[in-house]
Amino acid sequence: MDKKTIRDINVSGKKVLVRVDYNVPLDKNGKITDDTRIRATLPTIEYLLEKNAAVVLVSHLGRPKGAPVPEYSLSPVAKRLAELLGKEVLFAGDCVGPQAEAKVGELKADQVLLLENLRFHSEEEKNNAEFAAKLASLAEVYVNDAFGVSHRAHASVEGITKYLPAVAGMLMEKEINFLGQAVSSPVHPYVAIIGGAKVSDKIGVIGNLLTKVDTLIIGGGMANTFLAAQGYAAGKSLVEEDKLELARSLIADAKKRGVSLLLPTDVVVADKFAAEADSKVVKVDEIPQEWMALDIGPDTSKAYAAALVDAKLIVWNGPMGVFEMDTFAKGTEAVAHAVAASKAVSVVGGGDSIAAIEKVGVQKNISHISTGGGASLEFLEGKVLPGIAAINDK
Ligand code: ADP
Ligand code: MG
Repeated sequence: MDKKTIRDINVSGKKVLVRVDYNVPLDKNGKITDDTRIRATLPTIEYLLEKNAAVVLVSHLGRPKGAPVPEYSLSPVAKRLAELLGKEVLFAGDCVGPQAEAKVGELKADQVLLLENLRFHSEEEKNNAEFAAKLASLAEVYVNDAFGVSHRAHASVEGITKYLPAVAGMLMEKEINFLGQAVSSPVHPYVAIIGGAKVSDKIGVIGNLLTKVDTLIIGGGMANTFLAAQGYAAGKSLVEEDKLELARSLIADAKKRGVSLLLPTDVVVADKFAAEADSKVVKVDEIPQEWMALDIGPDTSKAYAAALVDAKLIVWNGPMGVFEMDTFAKGTEAVAHAVAASKAVSVVGGGDSIAAIEKVGVQKNISHISTGGGASLEFLEGKVLPGIAAINDK
């Protein structure tokens, strides 16, 4: 990696400000329902503590729209982090100003302090220079470990790097290494699986992947647009009529580049979009007029799994069907098992795809589960993410 990491600088005895992504889901009682994002930052925090740094953590949570909102306080996160670290985590009720300055001032080496939600200040999302300078004044070194927001030029992600040495944390490093390999130096055979609801969400990714992969597998709702583009009657399936031309040009592009583009040959259709719908498996040229395709069929699942067997690199983003309903989850589950069984380097991104991997319980057999949905998509599109660009080069 050509970006500096925490291992490339001396942090001993220094105040280190770490931008993390603690945008965790909370229930209505303010209880954290999934602490994956907190766990993901432990390697960086533990490394810094081991090196005798004083660790100041900053994050956003939810969309408080630039003013303090009690439901979006990070204080429950401080408690959960303390449990996970087995160590006291101090908390300051603001991320800048006298309270933050006092708590950071008292902070000693080998201590951890979490500051309140950055987005309680509208300046954060505006990348306000004065606000970024205030945050920077709290520390001597800046670490970006918030891959999930690195596609946003916010004050704590981009602006702050103008005032402090800026390096990547361990989570950020892992993301850049795995996604970077998929974008810049893929091993072959390289197979990408793209699914989800709509083609329009992932046009950029599909276009860029077509220039790199050997095989592109399409599933989910977006497959219906590709099927319709080839002249199949898709019934009441989700089809983006305004993207038919685009789907045709992507199919042509795949052909021109010698990329094997796999589309469903059979689908699970339902008479309504509901868990208790009537459903059956049909060939793609037999979709009944009043029915909708909500999953790939068993023949397609087998073909997709077979296409993954020899892969050396697999990138997966987007489920194969409406996996939230068990009746339409089989295709996504089959693909999850096939990705997990493969010896390839496997990279999975996207909130719903990760949920599917967890539902099947094969997380351990995936090389890298990306923590950033939008950020990993933009990375795979080949875009330069402002938060990564702003990290100092080696
Ligand atoms: P990710 O979060 O992994 O990037 P997306 O958000 O793009 O994935 O897509 C996931 C959504 O796509 C799920 O809510 C799923 O129900 C929906 N979906 C998948 N297949 C279909 C389909 N055939 N028809 C309608 N919606 C679908
Ligand atoms: Mg999603």
